Amino acid sequence: MQRLVASSTGARAALCPRYTTSPFFFTRSLRTAAETVPQSPIRVFRAVDDVRKWRKPQMINYRSVGLVPTMGALHEGHLALIRAAARENHHVVVSIYVNPAQFGVKEDLSSYPVTWETDIAALAKLDRELADDGGNLGRISAVFAPTTPEIYPSGFPGQAIDSKGSFVTITPVAEVLEGASRPTFFRGVATVCMKLFNIVQPEKVYFGQKDVQQTVVIRRMVKDLMVPTEVVICPTEREADGLAMASRNVYLGTRRREVAIVLNTALRAAENAYRAGRTDRASVLGAAQDVCDMMLRAQRDMKPSERVLFEIDYISLADPDSLQEVDTIDVAKGAVLSGAVRMLPVEEPQNGEDLGHSGGPAVRLIDNIILPPKST
Ligand code: AMP
Repeated sequence: MQRLVASSTGARAALCPRYTTSPFFFTRSLRTAAETVPQSPIRVFRAVDDVRKWRKPQMINYRSVGLVPTMGALHEGHLALIRAAARENHHVVVSIYVNPAQFGVKEDLSSYPVTWETDIAALAKLDRELADDGGNLGRISAVFAPTTPEIYPSGFPGQAIDSKGSFVTITPVAEVLEGASRPTFFRGVATVCMKLFNIVQPEKVYFGQKDVQQTVVIRRMVKDLMVPTEVVICPTEREADGLAMASRNVYLGTRRREVAIVLNTALRAAENAYRAGRTDRASVLGAAQDVCDMMLRAQRDMKPSERVLFEIDYISLADPDSLQEVDTIDVAKGAVLSGAVRMLPVEEPQNGEDLGHSGGPAVRLIDNIILPPKST
């Protein structure tokens, strides 16, 4: 294999006077038409084969690759993952793909925010920042933004629970919490992540703590299916008032944005109960429930034209490894506090009121706090 490459590069050198030292110089000069992010050297790959062709020499040259999977609509949470990946890898690949398989048939796939132009501008800006910061090993080398036929070469299997296709299912951790509300969600996530890992073959993959169950599912998949990559989890990036940053926050609009903090406030109350020494479920979750009840009462007392109603989908206190609910926190292990809230559409919208992206449908938000182990 090595000899073949050497002889073919020799022939190319004879044909191309600009090609003198590196075989990769030749490859790149042939690819002048390849898509890049404007005002940056970041390549844009649409096809699996193009990623593989780019990846192979990195592997031969022991250049490490960190992968940051995203669905686009990038915000500071995503950028923090990319910064972490650039500190630890020679190359960062960011994937941007809104994976239909992780949306339920009745979910917001068609209105999910797609902001390609601002996303790539944010990546170009971040890449310049990474270049100026000597503490990084690498920069953003590529964006992988495939189409659905590219990612599902045998045809997209559909979003229904009983869809037939090549899926990765990780049970039971994917069946509880988010999986209970969204039964096909983690099947879609695990399947697309496995595909991305196989395409990019990253040494490390970067995920946000914000989606805590996703981190548990991906870690379990990597462990049980012997995927040769390291899963790195980065802290949740928050707005100044504590709201976890999320692409879906753009759906909220001004009125609901203020009240959306309810979930984080409730989880923090539960965290405080744990820090104060409570370990029983009733006390810890009761503190969260009190906050939700109080905030909902306050909203109900307001005029419909001003208030915001919400429904708590769940608030959970679970074992950090299995995500099964616990009655008492084992302080040697700690626990995961997590929850989901549905911010309902605003009543009596006012003239000119900002109702959020897509006109203000109900918005489901999630958040979590890790309760750390305590030394006894
Ligand atoms: P998404 O584009 O929503 O699929 O998210 C892509 C990655 O970004 C996932 O690993 C998320 O957990 C992570 N992420 C999303 N929001 C945040 C946040 N506020 N802080 C840290 N990571 C986040």
